[in-house]
Amino acid sequence: MAKLYLVPTPIGNLEDMTLRAIRILKEVHLILAEDTRTSGKLLRHFDIETPMQSHHMHNEHKTVNTLVNRIQKGETMALISDAGTPAISDPGFLLVRACIAEDIPIECLPGPTAFVPALVKSGLPSDKFVFEGFLPPKKGRQTRLQLLAEETRTLIFYESPYKLVKTLSDVVTYFGADRPVSVSRELTKIYEETIRGTAEEVLQYYSEHSPKGEIVIVIGGK
Ligand code: SAM
Repeated sequence: MAKLYLVPTPIGNLEDMTLRAIRILKEVHLILAEDTRTSGKLLRHFDIETPMQSHHMHNEHKTVNTLVNRIQKGETMALISDAGTPAISDPGFLLVRACIAEDIPIECLPGPTAFVPALVKSGLPSDKFVFEGFLPPKKGRQTRLQLLAEETRTLIFYESPYKLVKTLSDVVTYFGADRPVSVSRELTKIYEETIRGTAEEVLQYYSEHSPKGEIVIVIGGK
């Protein structure tokens, strides 16, 4: 029976592509990619010649049913995103849910995702944690921050470099200046950096060193 594979891809370092990910991407009938140009480079690097079709947040609502029908008719597909694990702050959830509803088998390969290395190297408790993805930019942001300030488990957020300083100053305001924070930037890449300290210290650091690249913020629980 045809199935859907969810295949993680590197978050920076191409050596993190697993052998199984390469094999599955070569074997499936179709690769669903968030951005076919970005993924095209990855696929060429690994000599993967499988046809690709775009599947992103702007078309997934429309295409899910067609894709489910095609899998039911025998096409095995693999979903990849621009980087990391599909459905983790990326498209994927809708397709997974639709496949489950139709009893289509699903396999998710283990592989790269940014929040796990950021959590593990933060030095903050990793036995219990909450992954929050991106904070709402405006509407609902304050309510979310007020609620999360009471959370006792370690908190993980994705953030863009342009909003890091604003978010860290919100962390100082809502969580307190002494809350332990770890910011990991450019994980697995040449300029990988992790800055640890109190919320106030990390805010101070990034106010003086304008951040670039991709960022995960890890915050100690209350
Ligand atoms: N699906 C991805 C995953 O499994 O981690 C996440 C996709 S989300 C659209 C992109 C965000 O992930 C970035 O804005 C950043 O917060 C985080 N991220 C991705 N790659 C990263 C890296 N190499 N270092 C730090 N953060 C990263």
